[in-house]
Amino acid sequence: MSESYYDTISPHGGVLVDRVMRGEVREAVRERAEQMVKVPLDQMGLSDLELVATGALSPLTGFMRKVDYDRCVEEMRLANGLLWSIPITLAVEQDLADRIKEGQEVTLCEEGRVLAVMEVAEKYPNSQEVKEREAREVYRTTEEDHPGVARLYGRGEVLLGGDVWLVDWPTAVKTEFPELRHTPAETRRMFARRGWRSVVGFQTRNPIHRAHEYIQKTALEIVDGLFLHPLVGETKEDDIPTEVRIASYQAILRDYYPAERVLLGVFPAAMRYAGPREAIFHAIARKNYGCTHFIVGRDHAGVGKYYGTYDAQNIFDEFPPGDIGIVLFRFEHAFFCKKCGAIVSAKTCPHGKDDWVFLSGTQVREMLERGEMLPEEFTRPEVARVLLEGVRRHREAGDV
Ligand SMILES: [Zn+2]
Repeated sequence: MSESYYDTISPHGGVLVDRVMRGEVREAVRERAEQMVKVPLDQMGLSDLELVATGALSPLTGFMRKVDYDRCVEEMRLANGLLWSIPITLAVEQDLADRIKEGQEVTLCEEGRVLAVMEVAEKYPNSQEVKEREAREVYRTTEEDHPGVARLYGRGEVLLGGDVWLVDWPTAVKTEFPELRHTPAETRRMFARRGWRSVVGFQTRNPIHRAHEYIQKTALEIVDGLFLHPLVGETKEDDIPTEVRIASYQAILRDYYPAERVLLGVFPAAMRYAGPREAIFHAIARKNYGCTHFIVGRDHAGVGKYYGTYDAQNIFDEFPPGDIGIVLFRFEHAFFCKKCGAIVSAKTCPHGKDDWVFLSGTQVREMLERGEMLPEEFTRPEVARVLLEGVRRHREAGDV
């Protein structure tokens, strides 16, 4: 590994995992893989494979075995005691599982195309009872109205655990923002090259409104660099389309951020909407990318009314800070105050709701769909224009 590898922070568990096969070995394995039983990956499986292979989920080297899965669900830890909040599992249908023996090698496929080889160390049940336990513990609800729970219930009834080796990238890696799809090894080098000793990671699946800009820049006053790391894996249908979001990030970075202090990358994870547990997961992944700090705002990774506003911050108090390593920046809900003439929070402004400019996500979406500009106190005009244009194009294409 290169000299400046661990300049910012050690990966979770100490070593950055690399499960990407290269060179002649890769060719040989890929050829052999064609003869193995093929296991199709769903969208989340493809994301998880990419994340494992690149080390974004270090120390995981594959899909979870039962000891890790059980302890993760019940105690938010791996079998070895390391903090880990979200199960990373590979679910298959019973009839496919029946064709696979423990110890056997299989290939993981995207529409028939071989992506990886997995040594199936273990098969274990993913019965409705098992899924409901995961729903209750990880998502804090067993209701199918929750998008993460709905997806969990829809997966196969057997889990395969074992290490993976990637021989070819999922299609999305080559087609969806390849220029922004930096791996953890790459971001660590990029941070080092910029001379950043401390880096704050910002997770988002939404456009950057003024409040987010305020939070990011407040954090950036304290650390050397900002890693803007929007999630581009599978999301809900009513989230703003990814390519529109990326264009809006590029617009605001160009006009309002110092280029040498910000890096934009995409995070290829699927959204679980698991709120507090997912906040920990997002923080651990960003630690692997080399971030020393991580921003958690209000209702991080939440959906509907399933989680309290600051649950995703409070969960970090349940274990010693050393267990996660990355430093948390907790931010309150921020908004524009007409009297202060600035973005504030209830922590910094003595005025009240009458002076504060609030817009809900639903209100923003409705305004955009009506073709209305968002207020300048809420969103930079450069961003609003990109969003308006994006929504219009999608409507014309019949997507919304
Ligand atoms: Zn005020």
